Amino acid sequence: MKIALVGIGKIALDQHVPALASSPDWELAATVSRHGRAPGIEAFPRIEDMLDARPDIGAVSLCLPPVPRFEAAQAVLRAGRHLMLEKPPGATLAEVHILRDLAQAQGVTLYATWHSRVAHAVAAAKAWLADRVIHEGRITWREDVRKWHPGQDWIFQAGGMGVFDPGINALSILTEILPMPVHLRAAELDFPENRQAPIAARLALSGNITADFDFRQQGPQTWDMEFWTDAGRLALRLGGNVLEIDGADAGGEASIMGEYPALYARMAELVRRGASEVDLSPMVLVADAFTLGSRNTVDAFEF
Ligand code: NAP
Repeated sequence: MKIALVGIGKIALDQHVPALASSPDWELAATVSRHGRAPGIEAFPRIEDMLDARPDIGAVSLCLPPVPRFEAAQAVLRAGRHLMLEKPPGATLAEVHILRDLAQAQGVTLYATWHSRVAHAVAAAKAWLADRVIHEGRITWREDVRKWHPGQDWIFQAGGMGVFDPGINALSILTEILPMPVHLRAAELDFPENRQAPIAARLALSGNITADFDFRQQGPQTWDMEFWTDAGRLALRLGGNVLEIDGADAGGEASIMGEYPALYARMAELVRRGASEVDLSPMVLVADAFTLGSRNTVDAFEF
């Protein structure tokens, strides 16, 4: 099946292009970007031009930042093409509700991806937790924004989500593996004095679960979550890729490179089945943190 990639920036080039190149299901047939290019692939600056010129391309994958995503997503669905969305699936929840209804009306697939959910150890962690009583959970998601989002001013603009851009990955795993629903109880958000989105956040969730997100981590990066249960301690490390039970290795793989091939395999399966997958539960937690959280002003941040 032919697919077009829209928004040729860091994640498109780091992950989507290589995942498509090795996919047995997909052929990368075009890109849409004002500046970005994928070598050897036909390039369009505007999405409408690509949709008009290439009726043979049945699916589109959007790698744009969340704020400009909605207009492009609507254009794709109105043109009757299947649509795959990078996380987070929109700038607001209402946008994604509209896209979900539009996809259904058009009879096409909408896949709102959560790449961390397909990390190597997430399914095993979910199975292990399924019949346990969780006493406490602790998420620590601390990374260097200069390394993972070099010069991306959009991430600190309104709608860019700031530290929730990576933090929502942790919440996507949490909402996948917990055997019970979870909701936000309180939050504290640190906004740099010169920015519109938080650089750090601390969340308190139901079930005695806390989350510590920080974009200012130097040196080793931390994407961990730990759960103390009635039958021992489970830890997920490296963004859901490595599993530990009671401190001992229990599976997974110390690599993030399996996530995007798994997403494209899932997209192919959804298209073949005529199904969609849109779960907004991670985004609800983030929206609620902005609604309920208290706000601190911290030092200005420059890339
Ligand atoms: P990025 O490097 O800034 O790339 C996004 C591309 O979108 C830009 O290069 C730009 O290409 C295009 N674009 C169109 N309208 C834009 C606008 N108004 N502002 C900025 N760019 C615009 O961002 P990214 O890191 O690839 O992230 C894109 C999405 O992937 C985000 O939702 C992010 O959460 C997700 N993601 C990122 C990572 C990561 O490690 N960076 C990991 C997983 C998921 P043109 O100028 O050529 O049009």
